[in-house]
Amino acid sequence: MAQNEEPIIIDKLDMNFRDDIASEHGGEHIRRCFTCGTCTVTCPVFAVEERYDPRKIIRMILFGMKEEVLTDDLIWLCSGCYSCQELCPRDVKITSVMTAARNIAVREGHIPSGIKGGVDQLDKYGRLLEVSEFENTVRAKKDITELKETIPDVKKLLVKMGLFELVSRGESND
Ligand code: SF4
Ligand code: SF4
Repeated sequence: MAQNEEPIIIDKLDMNFRDDIASEHGGEHIRRCFTCGTCTVTCPVFAVEERYDPRKIIRMILFGMKEEVLTDDLIWLCSGCYSCQELCPRDVKITSVMTAARNIAVREGHIPSGIKGGVDQLDKYGRLLEVSEFENTVRAKKDITELKETIPDVKKLLVKMGLFELVSRGESND
């Protein structure tokens, strides 16, 4: 992502991007940000990965750096802990802004391979991890209920929510 090291390329800026984010649920207050940095210092992800800086991401959105924000995996690192949102003095809903950015990214076909992999697993098993014989052998030894290989109800729910359709629509835009 172009944060410190890369120059801003004026021709690539999309000044509608901030409006797109502002029109998503929770994105309404993004223009209120006055760059105080409270979100960054309180962010547990920033504490372990300095490339993930919510203040900078908010700035980049306001500057219209749509391509840089949407095509980078960083927006997917937000854990949704809401610490930043609780403390923002300008009531910017930062957690929701990250969700809004991810929603737009998916709609425009920018889905990181790790997320696609997770969706494939959900499609196949109704869970994020495949259950192997090993897990159930260990569970049996500890007298814990056996895990089923697939959870069809979860898959049905995700189909109803439109997850798979959304991701495949995004993929066809690649
Ligand atoms: S805490 Fe709020 S006002 Fe401060 S930089 Fe973050 S989003 Fe902007
Ligand atoms: S919600 Fe996301 S951006 Fe905000 S503090 Fe938590 S991890 Fe950081």
